[in-house]
Amino acid sequence: MEIKITKTTTPQTMPPEEKLGFGKVFTDHMLLVDWSKEKGWYDARIVPFGRISLHPASTVLHYGAEIFEGLKAYRREDGGVQLFRPMENIKRMNRSAERMSLPEMDENDMLQLLTTFVKLEEKWVPKSFGTSLYLRPFLFGNDEALGVHAVHNATFMLIASPSGSYYAEGINPVGIMIENEDVRTVRGGTGYAKCGGNYAASTRAGERAAKKGYSQVLWLDGVERKYIEEVGAMNVMFKINGEIVTPMLTGSILPGITRKSCIEVLKDLGYTVTERLLSVDELLSALKSGALEEAWGCGTAAVVSPIGKLAFGEEEYVIGGGKIGEVTQKLYDVLTGIQWGKQSDPYGWVYKL
Ligand SMILES: *Cc1c(COP(=O)(O)O)cnc(C)c1O
Repeated sequence: MEIKITKTTTPQTMPPEEKLGFGKVFTDHMLLVDWSKEKGWYDARIVPFGRISLHPASTVLHYGAEIFEGLKAYRREDGGVQLFRPMENIKRMNRSAERMSLPEMDENDMLQLLTTFVKLEEKWVPKSFGTSLYLRPFLFGNDEALGVHAVHNATFMLIASPSGSYYAEGINPVGIMIENEDVRTVRGGTGYAKCGGNYAASTRAGERAAKKGYSQVLWLDGVERKYIEEVGAMNVMFKINGEIVTPMLTGSILPGITRKSCIEVLKDLGYTVTERLLSVDELLSALKSGALEEAWGCGTAAVVSPIGKLAFGEEEYVIGGGKIGEVTQKLYDVLTGIQWGKQSDPYGWVYKL
């Protein structure tokens, strides 16, 4: 794919790494590619970062045709920059696109867009362990008419945001509330797609949990409200009687790349990992009997996030004495070691630029 590059005439400098936070600072440029049913993908371009202009009837504004991805560029100790399993994000973006009737893109073209952009913005990849350049590819329907149908015009974009360490204050276990009113998605719906609409539908529960002092909700399945699905916008894993259990991918769960990587690492460490249905009743009785040893969320932003407290109705339970567990810590060490290039990568997961 040919990419036209127009460089900014007013390059910015990155704020101090400890002041970055998440998703607030953006790099000097952004990438756009347009698509139409007639022409396919065309006009790939990198331009100075700035506002975009949309027709007021643009599909995305009315019917929510939007998907995205999230991955990071990591600075190794030797100064080089690397991505983590980028092909997994690319494949997932295409699966999300297919679900939302948005156009798919050739995998190698998308990889080329990512790598060209990150190379251009290299100076924005922060250096300290735990910090990264967060990459946000997204794609939206952009027809300039109100009729409802599969889109005929769409725009792919890529923006990037240098981000601070998720655990600047240390890894502290979080409190989670089991959500039994709102559901995130249903089977047959869009749960497995990374689409903005899933987030729009789940913020209300998150806000309610925050008001009660919990940092996330534990989602139950939308059909029976019985089986555990995810925690906030992360996948979830439990250590019960020495075994690792994680909800199976039923179609309403987002197939996380961190989840997949955790499963592979855990199996290599000798753990039995079972992907199956796990009911709230089973989880609560494991909590009460002491069989539940650890619980954690996993996703690109946090890598792993230990769960120290779980609330269901008026009851609140403490997990693992409210401290990070051994397996959670081990997963964090192995995955971050590979991502930031502090340890060798026996899996071939890193993609050096
Ligand atoms: C992105 C996401 C995850 C985590 O996926 P990763 O590929 O590990 O970052 C989990 N659940 C939801 C709902 C998500 O949107």
